[in-house]
Order: sequence, then structure tokens, then C-alpha cells
Amino acid sequence: MPVYSHSRLETFETCPLKYKFRYIDEIKKAEQSVEAFLGGLVHEVLRKLYDDLQLEKLNTMDELLESYAANWKKAWGPHVRIVRAGMTERNYFDYGAKCIRNYYEQYRPFRQSQTLGTEARLIFPLDGEGKYQVQGYVDRIARRDDGIIEIHDYKTSRSLPAQQKSDGDRQLALYQIGIERQWPDTRGVELIWHYVAFKETRRSRRTAAQLLELRQQTIELIDRVEHTKQFEGRRSALCDWCEYKPDCPLWRHPDSVLALPPAQFKADDGVRLADEYAKTKYELHTLELRLEQLKEQVIAFAQQRNLRVIQGSGAQIYVRLGEAEKFPGKREELRAALENVLKKAGKWEEISELDTAALAHALEAAKWPAELVAEVRRFATQVARDSVTLRRAGKSAEDEAE
Ligand code: SF4
Repeated sequence: MPVYSHSRLETFETCPLKYKFRYIDEIKKAEQSVEAFLGGLVHEVLRKLYDDLQLEKLNTMDELLESYAANWKKAWGPHVRIVRAGMTERNYFDYGAKCIRNYYEQYRPFRQSQTLGTEARLIFPLDGEGKYQVQGYVDRIARRDDGIIEIHDYKTSRSLPAQQKSDGDRQLALYQIGIERQWPDTRGVELIWHYVAFKETRRSRRTAAQLLELRQQTIELIDRVEHTKQFEGRRSALCDWCEYKPDCPLWRHPDSVLALPPAQFKADDGVRLADEYAKTKYELHTLELRLEQLKEQVIAFAQQRNLRVIQGSGAQIYVRLGEAEKFPGKREELRAALENVLKKAGKWEEISELDTAALAHALEAAKWPAELVAEVRRFATQVARDSVTLRRAGKSAEDEAE
């Protein structure tokens, strides 16, 4: 079994197909969203800040911004994709610089806690046998004077989550499991997120019971991933940021034809097929509605004149008026009680999955004991079952569809 990580599991939860592309087929993409690109560079600068501090060097804000600008210039290229319309490289560069300035102003002189590691890799088992291994990279691990270990995470997102969301976050809580294993005599752990665009911090603590539940849920999720055979795509607003979109069967055709000039678009085989299907489906729906109206008119006509057969030019219409028994469907209240009666009477296998139409048939066939029929019928309600059968000349009514 592979070593899992929060982001690996999150990818599966967001879109199983993306998970397959990335982790099973191991398709590597040079392409990167601008958000991920700038997030990586902001992380790099904050890492430098704390790494240098450990060697007693306090960078000025200008030094950090210079380092950020140099790294940006070196790494920027056509592989960085801007999705949002109207945004430029400059907009994102400035946004990243603002994140660094905010953090610097908020925490200078950065002596709130002692750094134990930056970009620190944790790898740990979730179970006693070591079958379910999890790994992750912590942005910064630090220890306060009161002995509490802090797990820091930098967020460059443009939205600030509610406290509740931080309290339910899986990633840092998983890291806590790894930290407590690494330092078993730790006096406590605090999870801290820095929303650097807002100069805001979120903090959260987890109890032993919550961590136990998290272990269990994560193991169950890993089992689900391991047993998945069909990795279906899940379309969402996030698809525009997915590096596999050009390969994705949910987007390949729409994306390839929507950019075509109108004449070429209309000539595309897929477009023509989809148009024909949509047109036929619409016509069918219109016809079904019309047929329903005509059926009602035929029944009313037959009732008014007390007729059971109506003659047309090339066909006759057979009309059956009456009632039928209807039994509780799968989601209806009396369903479980009805199933019990049938199971107790040993009749369950005859209709296996309770198929109410098959049940009505079995009763009509009158092969069951009278007491059982009476008991089952207690669950039935009478519903109108008027039917109209079209019979073309030369065919029996039974040969025709309703
Ligand atoms: S484009 Fe969307 S549906 Fe396709 S793999 Fe990516 S996330 Fe999944």
C-alpha cells in the first residue's frame, strides 16, 4: 500500500479521476496554476526567514521581498497558467508581496516561539501494524516557552475560513498525530494557520478522542481509495485549475469544439450527434406529453359514451377502466412491515427484491394461501388503472404497446 498524504486523499475526495491521473497513472505535468506558483514562492521566503533566524540572521522586509522577486523572475515561465480573466502576472506578483509584508509586520521580530523545523517531513502509521502510513510536510514546527508545540501552516488563499472550518481541518490534525508520536512527552499541540493575505491567524486544539476518530475516518477513507475500481471524473468549478483538463474525458470534446469557428463547430461529428440526440429527445418529450393528453381524452370519451373499443381509420383503441392494487414503494412507511410478512410466510424468495408489480401479479395469479393474500392486501391501496391499447388492423390487443 502506498504512503498517503492529506493532499493525496483530498485529491481523491475532490475528483477520483484526477487522483488516477496523478497518483496511479503518474502523469507528470509541467503546468502549474499561478495560485500554486505564488503560494510556493511565499512559502519559500517564509522558510528562509525562519531558517536564517536559526542562524541569528534577521532579514529585513526588503531583503525578503528582494529574494521573492528574484525567485519569481527565475521561476516564471509559460508553464504558469492564469485562469482568472483580466488578471496579469503583475497582479499575482503584487499579491504575493503583500502576503509577505503582512506576515512580516504581524510577527516581527519572530521570537514568539522557537523553530524546531521548517518544511519538516513527518511520516507515521495510523494503525498498530503500520499498514496505513501517512506523510506530510509541515511549514514550520515550533515550541513555545510553555512547552506547547505549534504546527504552523501558511495560507495564501483569497478567502478567510470560519473558525469551525479550521476546527474540522484534517491536514494539521494528522500532523499532530505524527508530532505526538515523534515527541511523546510533549505538553500539548496547537494547530495554527496564517491567512497571510488578511493578517489573520486561526488556532485550533484537538482532544485525544478527536484524534482517535480522525485516525479511524482516515483509515476508512484509505480503504475506500484502495477498493475503488472506477475512478470517475467529478466536474466542478475547480476543473479550470486542474492540470489534467486537456486530457479529461469530461472536457476534451467541449473544450476542443467551443473554440472553433461556427461553421466548423456545426460540422463536428460529436456536435452533430449531440444536436440530433437533443432534438429527438425534445420531440419525444413533446410527443409523450401529447400522448398523455390524448389518453385522457380517449378515457373521458369512452366513459361518457360507455365504450370499450373506439374505431379509428386504420386502428382500434381498446379501453380498460378500473382499479389496481398498489403496494408501498421502497421509501414508503409500511414497506418494512410488508417485507416482514412476506419473509415470515416464506414467500420472499419468490419475489426476491420486493418488486411491487411482481407482487400484484402474484396475488392476481391466486396461487398463494387465502390468509396470506388477505394479510398482504392490508398493505395495498386502490389506485386508478385505466389503460388504453392501440391495436393496428391484423394484431391482437396483447401484441400492442400501451
Ligand atoms: S478536469 Fe475536473 S473532472 Fe477532469 S480530472 Fe480534472 S478535476 Fe476531474
